[in-house]
Amino acid sequence: MSALLTAEAVTRRYGSLVAVNRVDLRVGEGERHALIGPNGAGKTTLLDLIGGASRADEGRIVFAGRDVTRLGPARRARNGIGRIHQRPAVWPTLSVLENVVVAGWRQAGGFRGVGSRGRFRRRLAEPAAELLDRVGLAGSAPTTAAHLSHGERRQLEIAMALAGRPRLLLLDEPAAGLSGVEVHRLVELLAALPREMSVLLVEHRLDLVYALADTVTVLHDGRLVASGVPDEIRNAPAVRRAYAEAV
Ligand code: ATP
Repeated sequence: MSALLTAEAVTRRYGSLVAVNRVDLRVGEGERHALIGPNGAGKTTLLDLIGGASRADEGRIVFAGRDVTRLGPARRARNGIGRIHQRPAVWPTLSVLENVVVAGWRQAGGFRGVGSRGRFRRRLAEPAAELLDRVGLAGSAPTTAAHLSHGERRQLEIAMALAGRPRLLLLDEPAAGLSGVEVHRLVELLAALPREMSVLLVEHRLDLVYALADTVTVLHDGRLVASGVPDEIRNAPAVRRAYAEAV
């Protein structure tokens, strides 16, 4: 798999704490890559560095052949990096359908891409309705987003991210706070994502990680301690040590 994303020796400090310490990461085209590690290992910080919510103090991030290290999150999103947050970020006063339409509209560069009524329908409204169907929210299209449950907001946020047609989807603990049925639906949804899209997933639920990931990278205290296919990682002594030390 050719590389879609490479992070080279990225470092992020908060005062004297090194939250991410010279981490190298490579996500291939179409790869499902999971980041695991105990609490405080630096997983969310690394996602922030890749999505642009946080800037690296050192190191370099290259996405689709372009150095994006100094770009802000909006520019990186337009370049094809989509993001799901630990707490679903939706517009609460808009309807479910409007949330997805607006997410697609922003990615299309505002009015430029959707000037006429016909193009609006083809480019935004119809794809938004299809995405809602795909994530299991078709019946809630007219509902105000504020009225959704946590699990439904998560589904909506995924539809919004997909509306931006990302080449890389960053998922920060998508299973957190979901019921068993919702987790099951989430796994099916993520497993069915088109292979043109790469995924970088942070998740504490290791069953979900091992079910979805092609590659698993383990962080501990800001450092990369192991990276490999799920079977290697499951039995790696360095991984056991990282979790044992964290207890
Ligand atoms: P969790 O699994 O608990 O979400 P994580 O692996 O995602 O943890 P991070 O949230 O990336 O870990 O945090 C890594 C370290 O950086 C932690 O020690 C955390 O307290 C610290 N940290 C993260 N963000 C900040 C911040 N904005 N200011 C100061 N310290 C921070």
